[in-house]
Amino acid sequence: MTDIGTTSRIKIPRYHYDRQFPDLEALIGRIRQALRSGDYILGSTVEHFEERFASYVGTRHAVGVNSGTDALTMAFQALGIGPGDEVITVANTFHASVLAITEAGARPVLVDCTPDDYLIDLDQVEAAIGPRTRALLVVHLFGKAVDMDRVRVLADRHGLAVVEDCAQAVGARWNGRRVGALGTVGCFSFHPSKNLAAAGDAGAVTTDVPELAARIQVLRALGQRAQNDHVTRGHNSKLDVLQALVLDHKLDALDAWNAHRRTVAERYAARLAALGLTGARPAGDRHVFHLYQVAVPHRDRVLTGLRAGGVDAVIRYPVPIHRQPAFADLGLTGAFPHAERQASDTLCLPIRPDLTDHEIDYVVDAVAALAGPARP
Ligand SMILES: *Cc1c(COP(=O)(O)O)cnc(C)c1O
Repeated sequence: MTDIGTTSRIKIPRYHYDRQFPDLEALIGRIRQALRSGDYILGSTVEHFEERFASYVGTRHAVGVNSGTDALTMAFQALGIGPGDEVITVANTFHASVLAITEAGARPVLVDCTPDDYLIDLDQVEAAIGPRTRALLVVHLFGKAVDMDRVRVLADRHGLAVVEDCAQAVGARWNGRRVGALGTVGCFSFHPSKNLAAAGDAGAVTTDVPELAARIQVLRALGQRAQNDHVTRGHNSKLDVLQALVLDHKLDALDAWNAHRRTVAERYAARLAALGLTGARPAGDRHVFHLYQVAVPHRDRVLTGLRAGGVDAVIRYPVPIHRQPAFADLGLTGAFPHAERQASDTLCLPIRPDLTDHEIDYVVDAVAALAGPARP
């Protein structure tokens, strides 16, 4: 059977927001207080979250901003990267990773991903380095940390800054240390889809370098050093108090949620392997499984069938960076066969901390049924 039921009453969503609040009443109480106080943007509540987030990640500083995209853009600007500079990154990532490079005025240079876990192929980086290369933007895609020891060697050898796109990987570790603490600057998104979700757009930049943190603080506040003292052309990209309260509330639960995601991924991997399908493999605390990738035959047919059957599967990402119309004028050249294959052959199965064994089995059985030979 390739039809798992277009009238399915089963729904397997990717998010259960109502289960993301360990103590909703306590949070509402803090929000009520904040609403009455009129302190809505930055201030002590945001500073408190920034301190807690920095200590969670393991950096000296965290600066709360409006989104992951802004975090990345301002990270490049704080590093002094702009027109005439090049930043190396990977061809399969979310649009915003590369948009941030161009927003800063710099030029992206793409390399392919590896065929097994779809992370940046570090073997290709050295050949992409030229006289204008200033930074390496590594994306801990799907929640899996890039090999940061190799990144460090490459960056040191060529004098490059390392910007980590941690939007999908909050909490993931490389050799015991969390992402965001391993490069020059870490950039986080708290978009509602991410593992640590705000109730709207939000993001953060982490760093050990006090000057970089100070520059981000100026950049996020319209380039103001002090009120009406605008030292640079910045952005209006500050973290607000309501988002900081939501994030502060959820931060304590994050490690447990990520651990549950790993357990879900282990069952997916084992069951898919038994069917001869290649799903993302567990990788200990290196992976927090923001997304669960699997390569399937007849991908589009499988996706349509899953969605009709109530399974909220998606493609991340269907159009690799070098094929996006928005970047057409950049002439992003090169061959990216693995990024192409990832875009054409893989999909993401729903993953949440509270996905049950029953739901996992339902999804895998549906994949198996749909990926079988097509009926005439
Ligand atoms: C979500 C995401 C971003 C952008 O974050 P926003 O908060 O939505 O601006 C950047 N990079 C990656 C890899 C992402 O997944």
